[in-house]
Amino acid sequence: MRILLHRADGNTGPWIEDFARHLPEARVEVWSEEHSQGPYDYAVVWSPPQAMLAQLAQVKAIFLTGAGVDALMRYNDEIPAHIPVIRLEDAGMAAQMAEYVSYAVLRYFRRLDEYEAQSRAGVWQPLAQHERADFSVGVLGMGVLGSRVLEALKTFGFPLRGWSRGPKQMDGVECFHGMDGLDAFLRGSRVLVCMLPLTPETSNLLDRSNMSKLPAGAYLINVARGAHVAEPDLLTLIKSGHISAATLDVFRNEPLPQQHPFWQEPRITITPHISALTLRGESIAQMADKIRALGAGQSVAGVVDRSKGY
Ligand code: NDP
Repeated sequence: MRILLHRADGNTGPWIEDFARHLPEARVEVWSEEHSQGPYDYAVVWSPPQAMLAQLAQVKAIFLTGAGVDALMRYNDEIPAHIPVIRLEDAGMAAQMAEYVSYAVLRYFRRLDEYEAQSRAGVWQPLAQHERADFSVGVLGMGVLGSRVLEALKTFGFPLRGWSRGPKQMDGVECFHGMDGLDAFLRGSRVLVCMLPLTPETSNLLDRSNMSKLPAGAYLINVARGAHVAEPDLLTLIKSGHISAATLDVFRNEPLPQQHPFWQEPRITITPHISALTLRGESIAQMADKIRALGAGQSVAGVVDRSKGY
């Protein structure tokens, strides 16, 4: 069995070693434009270069080393429809998202962002507590990661709401779906957490019009993709006070350029796309299990619906 591997960071050695451990029957080859000679059985990629497409068009399945599929979907038309594209499902990312989002929500609920500023300024001043019942948390996207975050947030007793494409039910969570359900969802979400895939439907979803529907003094946490948020609109709403603060892990341009105004806005907390990292060992174990299942003629979960884009 031949597997073609591409890593943008070039750090392929540990991937080859872990594949040898989890799938010893496979020969993993690092893609190179000059030397790769197909056909290969499987490809393992995240954001492959255009020059790799000829090889990708011949494999039995393409495995992605992330949960988000937007980096490959830009080539959707060039990859034959019969080739399954299989993304990571959790593989250790859900726990990381639960930690990151819970921390960000609690930081705002307990006003620790303001105490951090007071601490730097040498100010000893207790602030009025937020009311738990007023601190509703709405999660956009109730998939593998979003639903795990909602589960984690249940511990703290905030009113919880979730928004998905199709109807859903989740104990302890008020569920909304579709564009028809978006307004009501936004109007009741004091903290908005974006955990959506980036698709033509969700791109720019958080523009001025939609973010203005959030209650006054709302908070935004974006751990999905930068292109979900209209960045100038967010700045405007933060400066007006309609949005109190935002925690952003993802941006339209990454790394976030030094001259970007977000760096100058103290109410915006920036992290460098680390809310849920791909854990190599767990990811390769998941891929190896699925490759074995496919080899045995079984179906596998995590196949991207390429008509929906996620
Ligand atoms: P899933 O595919 O499991 O879940 C996606 C959810 O979004 C589903 O509930 C789906 O609804 C909902 N959704 C999709 N399109 C729409 C729409 N048009 N309207 C309403 N709801 C919609 O994805 P994951 O939970 O695994 O991952 C979510 C995203 O998190 C990834 O796509 C990626 O962008 C991001 N991510 C970010 C990372 C980071 O480090 N910052 C790391 C990993 C992922 P339905 O259930 O009805 O299908």
